[in-house]
Amino acid sequence: MRHFWNDVNRVRRERVHAEVAAAKVRQAQVSAFWDRHKTVVKERWAGRTAGRGKTMIVDIPEIAVQWHSDNTVRPEEVSATAQQRGVAVSPYLWECPLGLGHKPWPAWPKDRVQAGAGCPACRQLIRLADLRTLADQYRGLIPAGDTSFAARDRAPWVCRTWAVEPTTGRWHKVEHHFDAVTKERALQGDGCRVCAGYVIDDTNSLQTWFPEIAAEVDDPDIDPRQLSTSQHNISRKKLDTNDPKDAYERLSWRCRHGHRWKATILNRVRGARCPRCSTAGTSKEQVRLIAELAGLMDYVPPQPRDARLPDGLTDFASHQITVPPLHKPDHWRYKAVEVDAVFHVQGGLRIGVEYDGSYHHSVKKRDRQQFESEKSQVLAAADKLDLLVHVRVGDLPPLEAPQALSVPIPERSDPYQQACAVATAIRNRIPDSVPGLDDYVARRRAQCQEQADAYILAVWGELRPPRRKPERVASPRPRRLKETEPHHDSLLTPVDAPYRNPVRSAEIVRDYQCACGNSPFTAVQAQVTSGNTKSCGCLRNQTKQQQRSTISSVETRDARAWAREQGIEVGVNGRVPDRITASYRLSKAGRLDALGSDGLLEEHRVQQWAQLNGQKLGARGRVTSEVWLAYAIDCLTVGEPDDGATEQQPAREAVQEGA
Ligand SMILES: [Zn+2]
Ligand SMILES: [Zn+2]
Ligand SMILES: [Zn+2]
Ligand SMILES: [Zn+2]
Repeated sequence: MRHFWNDVNRVRRERVHAEVAAAKVRQAQVSAFWDRHKTVVKERWAGRTAGRGKTMIVDIPEIAVQWHSDNTVRPEEVSATAQQRGVAVSPYLWECPLGLGHKPWPAWPKDRVQAGAGCPACRQLIRLADLRTLADQYRGLIPAGDTSFAARDRAPWVCRTWAVEPTTGRWHKVEHHFDAVTKERALQGDGCRVCAGYVIDDTNSLQTWFPEIAAEVDDPDIDPRQLSTSQHNISRKKLDTNDPKDAYERLSWRCRHGHRWKATILNRVRGARCPRCSTAGTSKEQVRLIAELAGLMDYVPPQPRDARLPDGLTDFASHQITVPPLHKPDHWRYKAVEVDAVFHVQGGLRIGVEYDGSYHHSVKKRDRQQFESEKSQVLAAADKLDLLVHVRVGDLPPLEAPQALSVPIPERSDPYQQACAVATAIRNRIPDSVPGLDDYVARRRAQCQEQADAYILAVWGELRPPRRKPERVASPRPRRLKETEPHHDSLLTPVDAPYRNPVRSAEIVRDYQCACGNSPFTAVQAQVTSGNTKSCGCLRNQTKQQQRSTISSVETRDARAWAREQGIEVGVNGRVPDRITASYRLSKAGRLDALGSDGLLEEHRVQQWAQLNGQKLGARGRVTSEVWLAYAIDCLTVGEPDDGATEQQPAREAVQEGA
């Protein structure tokens, strides 16, 4: 999950960086204009010819052109050095000459002429609204158009992204909410604080990802919905005040059996369980067999008894048998030997039973073979056991040793079949050792599974094997994917490593820069390599634009009638404007959400969409016939065109150009 979010945030950070850089270039151009303006105006003032107090605004033409039409007096009537002491705000308004939509500003002529002061909005040109990627995420009270990109205010933000549902592995859209300082986001490239794990919500909390672990938090003041899944070290802030030796953020845990212990969240997430409940090496199949055998021979419970077991319940845990130093082979690391179960039979003989199930099949355990065959000899020599029975499940090789007895049992045999096989083998080795065996065999079914069930419930908490852990189902950490080059005449250049399409995981997509400048553009890597996708869509649009789309007379008639119904002005004959035709098509398809309040497509949305998608606009940004229609087509095929109103999804419908 975190890995995927990091990828998305890296792309966004690069976009913000590029947007800031572009905005700074614009700011530098505008500042250069005003610097030149100042020099010219000051020179003009220095070279004046009129007498003292006789130079008027109109005599400084560079300033005079900025005289606002709302001023009630004319520039011929106002002195170039007009300034009234004690009146802070000048009554004279000026108009920014750069057409950037700046509000008229009041200033005293003296300041403008002698100091060369210019449009104040031009000096602080970069607004948060200019950084599209950030402005989309901004939810502050002050409009993004009125906020400097370097504001030090803390504001709320929303990151729209994708998250995985841990139990199903499905991706779905989510919104991350967090507060951050605008300047830090714009200039330091700070990404989403939820994605980064600094802010915890339902998409990344311990409660969501590891509910079983969250249920074991033993502190009423801690809410697992607020816990990260990776907390391990104590934060530096806390470290200063705490014992410096303990650098780990250990929490208290309490298992279902009431054992308490301390561990970090990361320890727990990586698999550390209750140290006293560890059932490593014991299997439920083993417990089921031992329970049956306990009905046939004198079962010797292990010491000490497992404290979590209710009274009256048989303890089927393994025995730790200590081998005296004299008998411990030098190459054995431990003096305690684990034996799964111990029985007493007639004649005072002690029989150990070892259950070698699937655990023993793993390659890693193969080298235990020697240790396993030595075990019976050492235990016999130390006078701890008289016979060690190795129950070998499946195709495990038999163990050959004088005091060992190998009993092969088929995989998936039931406890009754296993018990018959083991008890018969024991009776064959030690006659009369299992007197009840014939009766048992005759009953044709297991007799002691109630005890086994009770024990399994007490120890594991469930009878069936535990479900696979959710983090394995979701598998959020993708493997590194193979990179392939674009087709030789492609306009696309990769900007990043390929990744899986979060909504169609079989598809490998990649972000590209298109030769037209459009970037990042997400496409299916294989399509780019084969040449089916050669550009961001700009090539395809060029071809399209050459053929002026024809609109049938029937559609023209219907669109005209529809427009009239809507109260939209439309001529009686001739071609219906394409904006109306495009709006009509969307309306007919039920896509009223794409239309504005007047029933027509909104020009600014289409303009934004066109810029984002490399569509050519007409002069002065005018939306052309073709763009109106293309936008409608995009709406109808893609569903939700990327017009900037929605955050870019990690992998939109990747464009495939018609072959
Ligand atoms: Zn301005
Ligand atoms: Zn996020
Ligand atoms: Zn426990
Ligand atoms: Zn392009």
